[in-house]
Amino acid sequence: CGIVGVIGRAAAAPLLLDALRRLEYRGYDSAGIATLVPDGIDRRRAEGKLGNLAAVLERTPLNGTTGIGHTRWATHGAPTERNAHPHATSRVAVVHNGIIENHAELRAELESEGALFETETDTETFVRLLDKHLAGGMAPVAAFAATLKRVHGAFAIAAVFAGHPRLLLGARQGAPLAVGFGEGEMFLGSDALALAPLTRRIAYLEEGDWVVITEEGANFFDAADAPVQRAVVQTAVSG
Ligand code: GLU
Repeated sequence: CGIVGVIGRAAAAPLLLDALRRLEYRGYDSAGIATLVPDGIDRRRAEGKLGNLAAVLERTPLNGTTGIGHTRWATHGAPTERNAHPHATSRVAVVHNGIIENHAELRAELESEGALFETETDTETFVRLLDKHLAGGMAPVAAFAATLKRVHGAFAIAAVFAGHPRLLLGARQGAPLAVGFGEGEMFLGSDALALAPLTRRIAYLEEGDWVVITEEGANFFDAADAPVQRAVVQTAVSG
């Protein structure tokens, strides 16, 4: 299971697929990629190995230079294409590793307000809650921060937003997440290995951190939403 993200200069999908290959060692049962395109969010998902996702992408390529990718190790919901990440609405796409412990309670709350769920995943509760905040007029960063406050568990998460083509948000709560600094492009990944061929300049989120990534750089916040500095280190990991 792994997470990758990019705000790039060239097509995001091939780069995300490559980065996911470097996370294969963690094991997974399905995979997917979402990118930002002029009219919103586009995504491709597939059961099984990354070769299946690669074949789907070959048949129906994904445009866009900003995107997120995921390898899933199913915990809630069968390892089907429908349950594969990224999970998305018209406003937002999300990838998530780990478990949202209070998913049942959140799902009941959201369904009672009229939300229609498409999957059996715990992840979708995060997506529906985030989407509710966005629909209510909150900006992506505020909506993401508000959603993080409601979910419990151990996980890492990343999101991209329709109409915000150069924005990538990430959060670490019990599972590692690293930001990679490129030349005019930025990356996000579960570990430095995923990003090794792309950049060796890495900053790790600390426990409870979340991050706002644009093509200019990254702004880190702690669990209390206070801005914090996280050192950029030169990783020894090589691709
Ligand atoms: N709990 C989520 C799911 O079952 C994420 C699993 C993972 O870590 O890949 O979809």
